[in-house]
Amino acid sequence: MVRLFLPFAFPFFPFRPRLLRQVANLLGGSFFRPAVALGQIGLWLRPIGCSVIKLVHSADGSTCSAHPPIHDAPPFIRLPIHNFISSALLTLPAGTIAILCARSTMAHHPPPPVDPHYTRSLPKIELHAHLTGSITRQCLHQIWNTKKSRDPAYALLDPLVAMLPEYDINTFFPLFSTYTYKLCNDLYSIEYSTKAVLQDFQQDGVVYLELRTTPRAVPEAAITKSDYVKSILTILQNHNTSPENTMRAYLTLSVDRRNSPAEAEEVVDLALQFQSAGVVGLDLCGDCAKGDARTFSKAFARAKAAGLKVTLHFAEVEASATDLELETLLSFQPDRLGHVIQVKDIFKEQIEKNGIGIELCLSCNVQAKMIKGSYPDHHFGTWRHSSVPLALSTDDVGVFGSPLSQEYFLAATHFGLDRGQLKALAERPIPCIFGGEDEQARLRNLFSQFSHV
Ligand SMILES: [Zn+2]
Repeated sequence: MVRLFLPFAFPFFPFRPRLLRQVANLLGGSFFRPAVALGQIGLWLRPIGCSVIKLVHSADGSTCSAHPPIHDAPPFIRLPIHNFISSALLTLPAGTIAILCARSTMAHHPPPPVDPHYTRSLPKIELHAHLTGSITRQCLHQIWNTKKSRDPAYALLDPLVAMLPEYDINTFFPLFSTYTYKLCNDLYSIEYSTKAVLQDFQQDGVVYLELRTTPRAVPEAAITKSDYVKSILTILQNHNTSPENTMRAYLTLSVDRRNSPAEAEEVVDLALQFQSAGVVGLDLCGDCAKGDARTFSKAFARAKAAGLKVTLHFAEVEASATDLELETLLSFQPDRLGHVIQVKDIFKEQIEKNGIGIELCLSCNVQAKMIKGSYPDHHFGTWRHSSVPLALSTDDVGVFGSPLSQEYFLAATHFGLDRGQLKALAERPIPCIFGGEDEQARLRNLFSQFSHV
């Protein structure tokens, strides 16, 4: 990396042909042509970090500008101080020739280390976040508090008491059916928590979010699955159309492995019904010890044929990573796969050959003991050298407590990534987002404007 050490301008003199001719002669020119001399000087000095400019008047003589423009100068001159230099130079008389000098300090100053501030400011793409699992304990506590204050006999425990400090793969899935769904069982709490989740991701520097959720009916509150999806999409649309929000959010609907084939078809129906309102994909999720993937083949084939993108929880534990299971899941022609832990080389090759995107969740896998060892042993270490689009993701930040910026910080810490490598990693999911080409273009533009130094 190159950093500006000491930028300074030598404002030479108002344009004086005689001196320029001498310079041109020094450079070997046989006769005088200022433009050639200027170009030659620029060409010669550019590799060592200098830039030659000439100040020229506008046609009416009222303003003075640099030629070539200063923003064409070597990149390391284009730093915040550039504005200062620009304005200082432009106060000099037209015709002044200036040489901008900059020194590389590459050998003496290592790049600034990756710190949590950097990973928060880094634009990030979140592709594997379950809506309900992304609700923080604090947000759940606020919902509980509201209910308790309205009804002192409210029986459900405070989530700050009810929820365990840590979850593994056995205690994780029951949390939702035994607690969270019971607490978030009306439109107020569903909408309130969805808004809070969006705010949390946005404040963490996420610029593109795909939330996923299994359509849930709450008969006691007269909420149908369709009402549930519709109310979440309304919150997402309100967020996306608010000009102050830099993050855009989309929804993927999940088929739970415990669903019957008919229930899976119902999820596809809902996804297609709300496709134009922000549903971008279909997911297969849930307790990996339950269900048989083959029973969902028809539903996923219909979704795919209708233009929905498909992501699947894939090989999370050994029980859900048999050859038959993985062959079945790959036959769904997924666009992305989540977790991808217990995978034989033969499947890895297929994933890479087909360019399937993968969603990797460091803290979730380590905390829930889905991998052997700790962060340095995570399969991110292997997949990051592959050619597939790869998205670091949180899975359930409300449960595991590690926001996406922290996941990037962990990746930097345990895999020795510097700021530039983290930026490249953050951009890597763009080809496999479900939000379409306009979103891809918006994200590319956003990353091109982000400086990692
Ligand atoms: Zn998941």
